[in-house]
Amino acid sequence: MSLAPANPTRLEADLRVLCDDIGCRLAGSPNEARAAQYIAAQYQALGLETEIQEFPCVCWECRQAVMQARRGRRWVDIPVQPNTQSPSTPGMLEGELVYLETAHPWDLEGRDLTGKIGLLFGSAYASLERMERLCNSGLVALLYVDERFPTDEKVASGLIAGWIDHLSLPTATVPYLRAWDLVRDGVRDVRLQLDMRNFLSHSQNVVAVLPGRRKLPPLVIGGHHDCVATNVGAEDDGTGVVVTLELARLLRDSKPLRPIRFVSFGWEENLSEGARQYVVHPANRAETTALMVNIDSVGCWMGTDEVWVTGDAKLRAFVRRHLEEQRFVAKLRPDITPFSDHYPFNLVGVPTVWLYRGNCPGGRWYHHSRFDTPDKLNMARLARTTDLVASMVGELAQSAELPFPRDIPAAQRRQIEQYRKDLYDPIGDWRTPELMRPEGKRRSDILS
Ligand SMILES: [Zn+2]
Repeated sequence: MSLAPANPTRLEADLRVLCDDIGCRLAGSPNEARAAQYIAAQYQALGLETEIQEFPCVCWECRQAVMQARRGRRWVDIPVQPNTQSPSTPGMLEGELVYLETAHPWDLEGRDLTGKIGLLFGSAYASLERMERLCNSGLVALLYVDERFPTDEKVASGLIAGWIDHLSLPTATVPYLRAWDLVRDGVRDVRLQLDMRNFLSHSQNVVAVLPGRRKLPPLVIGGHHDCVATNVGAEDDGTGVVVTLELARLLRDSKPLRPIRFVSFGWEENLSEGARQYVVHPANRAETTALMVNIDSVGCWMGTDEVWVTGDAKLRAFVRRHLEEQRFVAKLRPDITPFSDHYPFNLVGVPTVWLYRGNCPGGRWYHHSRFDTPDKLNMARLARTTDLVASMVGELAQSAELPFPRDIPAAQRRQIEQYRKDLYDPIGDWRTPELMRPEGKRRSDILS
């Protein structure tokens, strides 16, 4: 059956509620819960059976973040963005700034870092081994530069949920161009104060179900409603939420053969913890999913669309056919990434399709900065993306047989396993629901 086209006005209206009326939706915050309530109400209004699934989350609040660098006799303010769940500094630190390059063991060899404030080029979270090396180095705080964004802006960074227990060092990012000047000018004396409150809270997944006429493996479509602390998460990932809502409107009366589950995930910004919680929740039976379609960061004015396909060549052929039919230009990528909500599904063997639109080599130029606002989005473009997903999901929902095997090829499975080893295994067996819960081994450290 052919579906009605997506409506740009409705997409914008939902996005305005999330970004303008609610605003920043940090995981575990009252605003995140408000967003979940709003989303659930929309699904309920469509007559879908809707559930809010709560799970524990470490929320945080930055009371104060101050950095100053001494230039001659003057102390100059430097913008600084504390990391998600960073510990506080003990009051105002004053110390020597040391540039660590990438903190390779050779970079640190023979250097006494005791009592100093380190500056790292690149993410602090690229490896747990390096993070532990830095935590044990004698440094009193760690600053770093998100090397993807050579701007003068603060860029937020999410910590992997399971690493919260390992982070004993107050950590913050500084804008690339400010850090550049500090290193070039050999600035030595800096002050840093991070006053943080980390506390136990709850995040939530919103799950709405359109029943199928037959008992067939369901389709899951979703995006995430939480965002980082610096912005209102218009593109990342207000777009995924509003596209999923619009899909529910378009498909509601389609009487699908197989069930469709529309999911808005919470707590994505710490390595897709909400999607992981969805996958480990026994009632969701996520491992039986036919295909998971993840919509995260789409619809910007200029850019290149990408569809990341985890699955068999026949799944890629299926996607390619729909791109052709829709005259939708997008790059098909067979690559695995653990940094969005589809990855926990891959861990239990579910094939996935991730829709994304980038606009610079680092991703999108406003990524995790204050510039991720609704004006970055072209609603007509967002509607086209919705139509593409609707055509794929519409076909699969009416097919008793899938046009691809529910299988992930060995080469992709190896990459999935490698990420599991790097990101999850340091913590333990991720399958246990307890894993990475804040009730973990050093709860006292994270609760103020
Ligand atoms: Zn995202």
